[in-house]
Amino acid sequence: MPAPDVINLMSDTVTVPTPSMRHAMATCEVGDDVFRSDPTVNKLQEMTAEIVGAEASLWLPTGTMANQVAIAVHTHPGQDVIAGSWSHIVNYELGGVAWNSLCQLNMVSDEGGWITADRIKDAIRHQSDHTPGTGLVCLENTHNRRGGRVMPLEDLEKCADLAHNDGIPVHLDGARIWNASRASGVKVSEYCSKVESMMFCLSKGLASPAGSMLCGKKDFIESAHRMRKRFGGGLRQAGVLAACGILSLTEMVERLDEDHRNAKALARAINESGTLMIDESTVETNICIFDLPEKYGIDAFKFADIAEKNGLLVTYMGSRLIRLVTHKDFDGAWIPDVVERIRKSLVR
Ligand SMILES: *Cc1c(COP(=O)(O)O)cnc(C)c1O
Repeated sequence: MPAPDVINLMSDTVTVPTPSMRHAMATCEVGDDVFRSDPTVNKLQEMTAEIVGAEASLWLPTGTMANQVAIAVHTHPGQDVIAGSWSHIVNYELGGVAWNSLCQLNMVSDEGGWITADRIKDAIRHQSDHTPGTGLVCLENTHNRRGGRVMPLEDLEKCADLAHNDGIPVHLDGARIWNASRASGVKVSEYCSKVESMMFCLSKGLASPAGSMLCGKKDFIESAHRMRKRFGGGLRQAGVLAACGILSLTEMVERLDEDHRNAKALARAINESGTLMIDESTVETNICIFDLPEKYGIDAFKFADIAEKNGLLVTYMGSRLIRLVTHKDFDGAWIPDVVERIRKSLVR
């Protein structure tokens, strides 16, 4: 297929539902999920719990709501929430930790792509007459803003052990945990077994139009169910969306390998063209974050603007950082077109 007029590499959220998802939406059985009587939602929740090895799971409309509901359930007002300074929870959830849960963030470095245990050790604060006490540790895998890096299972385990030694629960923002699993060969159930709660998105590389799953123990999921309603996230015939989620898990996981191959090939091709620069060894999944060399005299925001006019949609992640995300609606055969559109956007 020749490249389209606009190649969209802004995010894997731009993926449109597959024909089988469209069909499932039209034909699935539905009920009122606020009364827990939507059979398709129930099926997805049971299936998810089984696959990830959790006691239970809950469907929520967005990943942000799933993270925020988890934080609200785990914490008490006034506590510390430890999270990476480059994490989604800190950067892209509009201060929700403060707004929704009345907690303060205690940010630690995750510059290398994940939080290391020694950082958590330094950051944990016990409750006293002076200190708030740490209510929750949040981890992220894969790491969005650090280019889809995969947090190694051993690091995840070390972080979780440290928190657990102090009786602190751990939440894993696994928006792209299936990408992490395909790239590392570690089962999602292994990541999930180390933490009190894990959320993942159906709406990114797995191509559902909406939806995220929150996984954990039965009691936790019961509390999350009530919290979801409080957040305004109790949907009625949500089965039309859950039907897509079921297909995300059964039909869309293995093909993530293709996105990973395309991201690596894209990184190499752009590097070889000599325009933007990336350390190829950091491209482990479907995200490439490039440096925009200063010699071009424009910042990443401006670059994204110019690239759009040349038929390439990208996002800027900082003044000199440009993100390209591969996904099922991107064909690896278009890589030369991407390289050419970048080149065109940089000549002055
Ligand atoms: C996308 C994303 C989320 C939030 O998901 P939404 O469905 O967009 O609200 C949370 N964490 C990470 C790491 C993400 O990439």
